[in-house]
Amino acid sequence: MKIENILMVGAGLSGAVIGRRLGDEGHQVTVVDSRSHIAGNCHTERDPDTGVMVHVYGPHIFHTDDEDVWAYVNRFQTFKDYKNRVKATTGGAVYSLPINLHTINQFFAKTMLPDEAFAFITQEQADTSIKDPQTFEEQAMRFLGRDLYEAFFKGYTIKQWGRAPSELPASILKRLPVRFNYEDNYFFHKFQGMPENGYTDMVARILDHPRIDVKLETPFQRGQGDGYDHVFYSGALDGYFDFELGRLGYRTLDFEKFTYDGDYQGCAVMNYGEEQVPYTRITEHKHFSPWESHQRSVCYREFARAAEVDDIPYYPIRQVAEKALLADYVALAETTERVTFVGRLGTYRYLDMDVTIREALEAAEGFVSARAASRKVPTFFTPPV
Ligand code: UDP
Repeated sequence: MKIENILMVGAGLSGAVIGRRLGDEGHQVTVVDSRSHIAGNCHTERDPDTGVMVHVYGPHIFHTDDEDVWAYVNRFQTFKDYKNRVKATTGGAVYSLPINLHTINQFFAKTMLPDEAFAFITQEQADTSIKDPQTFEEQAMRFLGRDLYEAFFKGYTIKQWGRAPSELPASILKRLPVRFNYEDNYFFHKFQGMPENGYTDMVARILDHPRIDVKLETPFQRGQGDGYDHVFYSGALDGYFDFELGRLGYRTLDFEKFTYDGDYQGCAVMNYGEEQVPYTRITEHKHFSPWESHQRSVCYREFARAAEVDDIPYYPIRQVAEKALLADYVALAETTERVTFVGRLGTYRYLDMDVTIREALEAAEGFVSARAASRKVPTFFTPPV
C-alpha cells in the first residue's frame, strides 16, 4: 500500500474519526481547523470561574442505538450515565417534555390513564381531517391537536426556525416522540451518556496518534489541498467554493451566558414554548455532569436567528430554495478531484453526533476499499440531496 498524505479540513467529529482510521491504516494525516480548539461544535471546556464543564456551542447529549458507534466512543472516553430530562415553561406553568402522560394530565388538569389519554388525544384533540401531514403544523395538528401544538411547539418553532410552522417540513417534528406513559427520557435510544471529561477530551484522544498532525487557527484555502493525495472537507459546502453560487441558509445561535450562586433552574434544559419569551431555552451546564459537584453555576440563554456572513452555521434550513441551491453545489462538488465532503456542514444536513460518527467510519472504510480496488473515491459517501 502506498502511504498517502491526507488533508482533513475540520477537527470536529468527522475529521477526527476519519483521520484516526486513516492514520491507523498507515497514512500521514494533517488536520487543519480555523478555530483555536478541536471538536467543532461539540467542544466542551471548563469555565475558569466556576469549574463547570460547559458545552460551548450548546447542549450535546450522546444517544444512539448503534452498537458499533457506542463501542467506538467508549474506546476514547468513559461515558457516564446521563438521561436527558427536559422541562418546558409555557402559559405560566412548568411541564415535562417530550409530551408524555404527565404533560397531558397536567396540561388538561386531568388524571387519565394511558388508554384514556390515548383516546382523548386521538379522538378529541387530534385533527383527523388531515390525512397526509406535510408540514410541521399539519403533523402537530394531526397527532397532538391545537392546544398542545400552540403551547409547546408553535412559538418555540417560530423562534427556532424563523419561519411559520406551516412552511416547515413535518420531518422536524418527527424527531420528537409523544408518550402515553410517564417516561420522560427525551431520547429513546439504547445507549445514552455524557463523556466524563467532555467531548473535547474524547476528540483529543481520537486525534492522539503518531501519524496525525493537528494545526489549529489554520483556515483552509482552496488550492491548499493540491499538495495532498486526498482531501476530506468537513467545512461548509458552499464555503469550499467561496460561495460562488450563493449562500446556503443556516440558523445560528447566540448564547447569553450568566452565572448563578447555587442551582438556577434545577435541571439541565428548560425550553420556553411561548413566542413572547425571546429565547428558546436555558441550559444550566452543571446538570450535564451530575457526577460532579459545583456550588456555582453557568447558564446559557439561547437565541436562534438567521446566520449572517460571519456567524457560525448551526442548523441547515433545507427548504425548497436551499435544496435547489444545494443541488447546484453538489453538481459543482462532483467536478472536483480528490476531495470528499463529509459531516454536517460538508453535506448540509442536520446530523446527530452518533450519525456523524457512523458516516465518518463508513467514509474512512470507503476510502480504504476504493484505494484497494483502484476506484475513484466518491465526492460524497452520503448524498446530500
Ligand atoms: N420543538 C418545539 N418545542 C420544544 C422542543 C422542540 O417546538 O420544546 C421543535 C422545534 O421545532 C425543534 C424540533 O422540535 O427544532 C426538534 O427538537 P429537538 O429537541 O430535536 O431540537 P435540537 O435540540 O436538536 O435543537
